[in-house]
Amino acid sequence: MNGYLKPLPKPSKVSAPFWAAARRHQLILQRCERCGTFIYYPRSRCPHCFDDRLGWQQVSGRGVVYSFTVVRRAMSRAFGDAPYVLAIVELEEGPRLTTNIVAAPEAVSVGMKVTAHFDDVTPECTLVKFKPAEE
Ligand SMILES: [Zn+2]
Repeated sequence: MNGYLKPLPKPSKVSAPFWAAARRHQLILQRCERCGTFIYYPRSRCPHCFDDRLGWQQVSGRGVVYSFTVVRRAMSRAFGDAPYVLAIVELEEGPRLTTNIVAAPEAVSVGMKVTAHFDDVTPECTLVKFKPAEE
């Protein structure tokens, strides 16, 4: 057993491709084959046109910080790495992901450019986080 104590995602049949790609350090999103909309989080139908023909496509991993907060007080021993940045990142392709920014809290600002960062938290699980983009 490793020392990772935080809750881990439980991939569903619908979300399993996203988590498998994350383990390969690739960010993929569902894309509606009818209207072309990129979709996050993974689901069974397009939220825009309700078509169920959804494929997967690798995306750039580039985005901007849409919003963020700094968690300074651990809610349990598992979150003892506070302070950390909890953020919503808006990807170039449109969808917004709730994630962590791997940076000092004082270095994060709304609108800053970020890129995907893959955190192998256990041998079976990789989380998609973001770090400041290099200009
Ligand atoms: Zn659609």
